Amino acid sequence: MRIETECLHAGYTPKNGDPRVVPIVQSTTYCFDSTEHIADLFNMPSEHMYSRLSNPTCDAVEQKLATLEGGVGAMLTSSGQAASLTALLNVCSAGDSIISTGAVYGGTVNLFAVTLKKMGIECIWIDGDDPAEKIQAAFKPNTKAVFCETIANPALAVCDIEKLSAVAHKNHVPLIIDNTFSTPFLCRPIEWGADIVVHSTTKYLDGHALQVGGVIVDSGKFDWEAAHKASGKFPDLVNPDASYHGLIYTKDFGNKAYIVKARMHLMRDIGCCTSAHAAFLLNLGLETLPLRMERYCKNALEVARFFKSSDKIESVRYPGLEGDRYYEAAKKYLPLGASGVISITVKGGRQGAVRFMDGLKLASNVVHVADIRTSVLHPASATHRQLTDEQLKAAGIDGGLVRFSCGLEHIDDILDDITGALQKV
Ligand code: PLP
Repeated sequence: MRIETECLHAGYTPKNGDPRVVPIVQSTTYCFDSTEHIADLFNMPSEHMYSRLSNPTCDAVEQKLATLEGGVGAMLTSSGQAASLTALLNVCSAGDSIISTGAVYGGTVNLFAVTLKKMGIECIWIDGDDPAEKIQAAFKPNTKAVFCETIANPALAVCDIEKLSAVAHKNHVPLIIDNTFSTPFLCRPIEWGADIVVHSTTKYLDGHALQVGGVIVDSGKFDWEAAHKASGKFPDLVNPDASYHGLIYTKDFGNKAYIVKARMHLMRDIGCCTSAHAAFLLNLGLETLPLRMERYCKNALEVARFFKSSDKIESVRYPGLEGDRYYEAAKKYLPLGASGVISITVKGGRQGAVRFMDGLKLASNVVHVADIRTSVLHPASATHRQLTDEQLKAAGIDGGLVRFSCGLEHIDDILDDITGALQKV
């Protein structure tokens, strides 16, 4: 089926007399008629038994997201941050390293540079635009994964997924892509060679600013056994898990080994699960994703062109804009549109940016992005505030940068609002 249809129907097929809409199963637990049945589930969780591990509402939405991204399985998490962390902890532990592009969401920079470091995991930063040979030099024998965002927040760099996937695979490690800004409607990283996809579902997938959530999708394509044989890097996936009665993920779950391990091991022990109600709200957003993404892209391109023509704006970044540094990459990876976020540098530096933002009447000044309502944010003083000057530079941010997230309002109203605010600069 086409993605428009999958967004509506994947993950839930009602049987005779079932509710038409995915029901909210608001229960932490599930009943069984014998102790033995429950004991069996502790050996092999094949049914829902406790909602930290799985829940029917979450399960339906997980199946939908796996279908949309072209994966074999998915796991919802309590936030996008939890998804990134869990995706990595599933393959690395103290003494290991990961490689990430510097142009990623500020919270991710902090997670990798500070928190993972405290856990004994080193992050080696690279410039995603560097040639493969230079990226190759960043690998160490203990490197376990490569991480990148499809469209970087807020630098709006478009990831060359094919290049990164080739280097990662040459080094026997998976490529993990944060696909939050593009969504599977605009780009399916797995089709370009990514192995794992993560999202902050808080953003476009929900779209209505209703729930904070995340998801990990497993492509099922990474050959953990072959990679371990060649490099010795993934013992936890191919050796017996003592905490699960000697079960071997690759043997017992085949191409779902990674996502099953994420749930049975990390979700069980760390517990960063989402709720049935949050999953239900997320599903409502997913149902209209294609319609919304088309409109975000259309509005954003017009707004980007408008900014480009203004003498109050120093520079405009939007990968869908002719002449943008990532225009060619966007044509390849984002043929349907470059999503709804534009980064602008207002003349007058930080003060100019603040005047512009405070002059907006329709757009909301919020710590959020990818909403149905137009939203603005000043990354240097908000989401990326904790970054050093060097990290800010690597993330493509300066004091005058404003992240402008186009909503679904009528384009003329958005442009009128911008026109009014620019007069204050
Ligand atoms: N990844 C990207 C690209 C983001 O923009 C964000 C949040 O803005 C996150 C991850 C973290 O997601 P959450 O806020 O849901 O934890």
